[in-house]
Amino acid sequence: MKNYFAVLLLVATCLPAFSQNKANLKIVSNYNAYRADVAKNPDLELVEIKKAIPSVVLDIRYATTNNFMNQVMYKQARAFARKPVVEKLKLIQAALKKKGYGLKIYDGYRPYAVTVSFYEKAQGEDKKFVADPAKGSKHNRGCAVDLSIIDLKTGKDVPMPTPYDSFEAAAAPTYNNLPANIIKNRDFLINLMHAHGFKVVYHEWWHFDFIGWEKFDLMDIPFEQL
Ligand SMILES: [Zn+2]
Repeated sequence: MKNYFAVLLLVATCLPAFSQNKANLKIVSNYNAYRADVAKNPDLELVEIKKAIPSVVLDIRYATTNNFMNQVMYKQARAFARKPVVEKLKLIQAALKKKGYGLKIYDGYRPYAVTVSFYEKAQGEDKKFVADPAKGSKHNRGCAVDLSIIDLKTGKDVPMPTPYDSFEAAAAPTYNNLPANIIKNRDFLINLMHAHGFKVVYHEWWHFDFIGWEKFDLMDIPFEQL
């Protein structure tokens, strides 16, 4: 009997700190394992953006039904990113402030389970626009942010080529069949982000990957635990 409990204890302590999904991706899904990783490398911390930069405006569409899925995907309207990502955002916010602008954040870290859910729920053509769970998304690594800018005087959005999460061709950062002031606003945002270590993606003017994302694992810890 004693041996039986010893075996049970051994099995329990050997439970993996991360889960392997069908595609054999390493995904950190255990909160204590995540905290242990952060203790070893503080850069791995998922920092709440609004706490680190109180002046940012949040518009977490996935915590509402106002998104392309028309469904609530997040239980809480919060945004996180890895520590070095948030440090860069802080510098960006300071640079914007000098020009009378501020950041509006739509999304940051996204738990892996939400990416799977996007993929399962997306119908037909829409599947092309959501991340393939076989690869995971840079949002799952806490290394991508979806954002735009607001005018600090009016609190209104600075006009951009399309709304957030639009599937229109005009959402591509290279699309130029647009009024000059719109191109100017978009390119101002993109150039500022590029100057601070981010890279815009091909078909979404609002999505920026943090350069160096490869060093960060995919994560599947819900906001409520952070
Ligand atoms: Zn994105």
